[in-house]
Amino acid sequence: MKERLGELKHVGIAVEDLDEAKKVYCDVLGFDLEDEMEVPERGLRIAFLSAGNTKIELLKGISPESTISKFVEKRGAGIHHLCFGVVDIKKTIEGLVAEGIEMIDRQPRRGAEGDMVAFLHPGSTMKVLIELVEER
Ligand code: ZN
Repeated sequence: MKERLGELKHVGIAVEDLDEAKKVYCDVLGFDLEDEMEVPERGLRIAFLSAGNTKIELLKGISPESTISKFVEKRGAGIHHLCFGVVDIKKTIEGLVAEGIEMIDRQPRRGAEGDMVAFLHPGSTMKVLIELVEER
């Protein structure tokens, strides 16, 4: 059986100013701030907002080497990635690689919320960066 991607877990949005982004997304658009954390090893500050059955992940680069800082510098703020849930992340990666999908992460790693995650290379998915997260 093929391992398929499941539901949309979150939409990652790269921002230049996290406080400004929270003002718009929480105070104006009405999403609730669920969690906020710093991930120093990836040079990130992240805010998760609940949005019905899915979430919005606001990503702010806090070091110049962070992939988000580089993304914002090159392309400006905006949608950065989509994250989909999978049942067995290792099996899914194996299946995708067998189908010719290029992975950024051939091995899953621990994500900001403690779950196992892996990114697909956007060159394989119509220039959309896709993150997989193993459902708990
Ligand atoms: Zn994400």
